[in-house]
Amino acid sequence: MLGQMQDHPLLISTLIDHAAKNHPEAEIVSRRVEGDLHRSNYGQVARRSKQVAGALDRLGLAQGDRVATLAWNGYRHLELYFGITGSGRVVHTINPRLLPDQIAWIANHAEDQVLCFDMTFLPIVKGIWKHCTTVRQWVALCDADKLPADTGIPNLVAYEAWIGAESADYTWPSFDERSAAALCYTSGTTGNPKGALYSHRSTLLHAYAGALPDALNLSARDSILPVVPMFHVNAWGLPYGAAMTGAKMVFPGAALDGKSVYDLIEAEGVTMAAGVPTVWLGLLNHTAQHGLKFRTMRRTVIGGSACPPAMIQSFRDEYDVTVLHAWGMTEMSPLGTVCTLKPAQTQLPAAQQLAVMAKQGRAIYGVDMKIVDADGNELPWDGQQSGDLLVRGPWIISSYFKGEGGNPLVAGGWFPTGDVASIDADGFLQITDRSKDVIKSGGEWISSIDVENIAMAHPAVAMAACIAVPHPKWDERPLLVVMKKPNATATPAEILAHFDGKIAKWQIPDDVVFVDGIPLGATGKMQKNKLREQFKGHALPTA
Ligand code: ADP
Repeated sequence: MLGQMQDHPLLISTLIDHAAKNHPEAEIVSRRVEGDLHRSNYGQVARRSKQVAGALDRLGLAQGDRVATLAWNGYRHLELYFGITGSGRVVHTINPRLLPDQIAWIANHAEDQVLCFDMTFLPIVKGIWKHCTTVRQWVALCDADKLPADTGIPNLVAYEAWIGAESADYTWPSFDERSAAALCYTSGTTGNPKGALYSHRSTLLHAYAGALPDALNLSARDSILPVVPMFHVNAWGLPYGAAMTGAKMVFPGAALDGKSVYDLIEAEGVTMAAGVPTVWLGLLNHTAQHGLKFRTMRRTVIGGSACPPAMIQSFRDEYDVTVLHAWGMTEMSPLGTVCTLKPAQTQLPAAQQLAVMAKQGRAIYGVDMKIVDADGNELPWDGQQSGDLLVRGPWIISSYFKGEGGNPLVAGGWFPTGDVASIDADGFLQITDRSKDVIKSGGEWISSIDVENIAMAHPAVAMAACIAVPHPKWDERPLLVVMKKPNATATPAEILAHFDGKIAKWQIPDDVVFVDGIPLGATGKMQKNKLREQFKGHALPTA
């Protein structure tokens, strides 16, 4: 017997319709590449996203056709999110920090029909348009009078002229909620990038779960600033969660330095921000240098790579801001776990609480996870044993776009994350490493994240990466690569002394090297593969 409730498909268009009907006045504030601050609201975004839909209809795009964006966080990008998906096409967000060749490769692989870009990226587009064989319409995200005449790019139109010709009187089509909605490519540190293709259903379920109190706790009283780009796993789903709850959105555009982000947070009453750890280094440097506090910001979501406990502590003790440490991946839409305390943990002394907050947190409803040993046997949740982390759920990938790489799932429909982790009795996940970053010393594993977290608590250290270096006796030994804070002084011996008593002796790095900068990938994560290549010949004092 079936239930007797109405059967409405979970479509992304219902999010913007809901926001426009119930929160038309809630603001969407954007720092534009033009430099000014632009103010819009859900009512306007809904109307203009319908104009986007009309423009795509006029081009004759079919359901499921891909429309790419190469853009910062801003209101036009948000309109594209809703207009493209609402009309049944697929929004393909491309990371502009990739090399031009990679961007062209991805656009061709996705068979993008339209590519919309911020003017900042005009030089990239000038270099690649000839190679993007499927793109038939280029759209510059600007006013008609800002479009240079002599770009040489065929079929180029200014966004405002493009959508200006369309009516906002548009009825969203209805279709199967399992239809494709958005496409994101993984960064492809090994081999070619692969596409994760989200559906309307997976996106809405992810938005519901992400908005829950023990996840990101989104509400109509929030003012949300995603520093995490809309091209990095849909800004972790925040644009959808914000529309669902009617939260104000504040978009930083291209101005991602500490001062610009801080000024925006204060001016727009931001209550919650989100980003990878490296972006908060700039913000905290700025606030520390100028003795600044946050008037309204009370929580910040940090994920994408391990958030150093020193950063969580600094936010808590100096700024009264709670860090929500989150873990996920492109293949998971991306949310998997978020770290919020259970009742008994709220009573713990501050230091013990910090140890919990430094973990990646508990699974949000919808994500089922387990850890297994090398033979696939499930390991206990004892907080001690670590193994390969597997996940499954309705917003986790079942196969890559175009079937690339074959079936990624193992028995039981589990997706292997490539992460090594432990889970404690309270269900808190702790990522030890990415499996390819683990350091194998004499048959024992050393967690590079543990070593880095300790190094980051040293007052002279701005950023630290712990990598494996080949060793004649132990196979591999850890080397600590350190970027110092401006004007800070420290010797390798001083840094190493800082590890005493904090970690087993054999886990302490064999050596420390100082560098001017640590290479960051397109999403702001440390590129340890590059460091391993750079230091593979490093002569360890123990070798
Ligand atoms: P890419 O490698 O393509 O940038 P993702 O952005 O999807 O892919 O990165 C997912 C990976 O990032 C995870 O598998 C994990 O290794 C790492 N990661 C994400 N969040 C955290 C976190 N809070 N702590 C440690 N590692 C994390």
